[in-house]
Amino acid sequence: MTLGPSADQWAAAVAAVRSAGPDDEIQLICHVNPDGDALGSMLGFGLGLRRLGFTRVRATFPGDFVVPDPYREIPGVDLLVPESDAFAEPRLILVFDVASESRLGALAARVADAPASVVLDHHASNTGFGGVQLVDPRAAATSVVADGLLSRLGVPLDAEIAECLYIALATDTGSFKFDMTTVSVHELAARLIATGIRPGEISRRIFDSKPFGAMKLTGEVIGRAVLEPSAAAGRGMVWTYATLADLERHGQPPYVLDALIDPVRSVAEADVSMVVKQVAPGEWSVSLRSKGAVDVSGVAVSQGGGGHRLAAGFTGYGEASDVVDTVRRLLDEHLN
Ligand code: AMP
Ligand code: MN
Ligand code: MN
Repeated sequence: MTLGPSADQWAAAVAAVRSAGPDDEIQLICHVNPDGDALGSMLGFGLGLRRLGFTRVRATFPGDFVVPDPYREIPGVDLLVPESDAFAEPRLILVFDVASESRLGALAARVADAPASVVLDHHASNTGFGGVQLVDPRAAATSVVADGLLSRLGVPLDAEIAECLYIALATDTGSFKFDMTTVSVHELAARLIATGIRPGEISRRIFDSKPFGAMKLTGEVIGRAVLEPSAAAGRGMVWTYATLADLERHGQPPYVLDALIDPVRSVAEADVSMVVKQVAPGEWSVSLRSKGAVDVSGVAVSQGGGGHRLAAGFTGYGEASDVVDTVRRLLDEHLN
């Protein structure tokens, strides 16, 4: 899939939202272990629904109800409820930043059963689940798609909605550093900033603030990184891993490991970078990045995961070394 939503798909999404009455239950859902794009696009859109007069809007995500510290004060956070408090039979479901039903856990069935559902996403690997698909692989973040639907619904941007969409956009573009940082990304950023939000203050809160223990943990995990110059058919791979014991020793929640891929992927000698993060005994969340030579989403999809060409992930099993061995082998297979 390379093209964005068609005019018919946009019209169907607008019709789906307008088919709900002001007192109908509307459930918003984003992916497990939500990041800035998942939460920002979902809550920004949720605030937009409130502005339209919808009174019964809830937002949730599957699994442990952990809202990472940096997002505790994001506008619209009061819309968030644990999975157990999500509407059982909502009139309408909107799904944000979810490439496949596997990222919805038990909530996938609710999407399948809903009278109306709309999926807003930007993953090339999106599987096409849900009622109406608004999937734009060219979009830098799901918040670009959310902005498109809000404007078609006639919701003006205000500072609260803008802060949510800005956090989402800044997260998925690596603070406007990655390749998909196009003219239209900066045009959207300009419209968001024009509402009066403070990009510097937001960036300090979201990206540049962490507990001392998180820094010590990061230092330890980076300290054990391994560079394999001959991996990925000579393009090089750098990888590291972190265990639940590491988290416990430093008193840190799992989400602090998600930022670790950034220093690891900066290693010049490797095209491919990887962080293998333990989520349970024998189970690992794997983050993969490429500087351009390798389509890491191919590796991730072949392991039941997904993502983008240069940023992807999957769930691996066994020992950390088993996961590394698998990726090393798959990279060689994909490249030879
Ligand atoms: P991350 O490394 O967690 O920042 O994820 C990078 C990209 O891969 C994101 O676009 C995720 O949506 C995607 N991704 C990560 N883990 C998975 C997974 N287990 N299944 C599907 N997609 C994933
Ligand atoms: Mn995401
Ligand atoms: Mn995203």
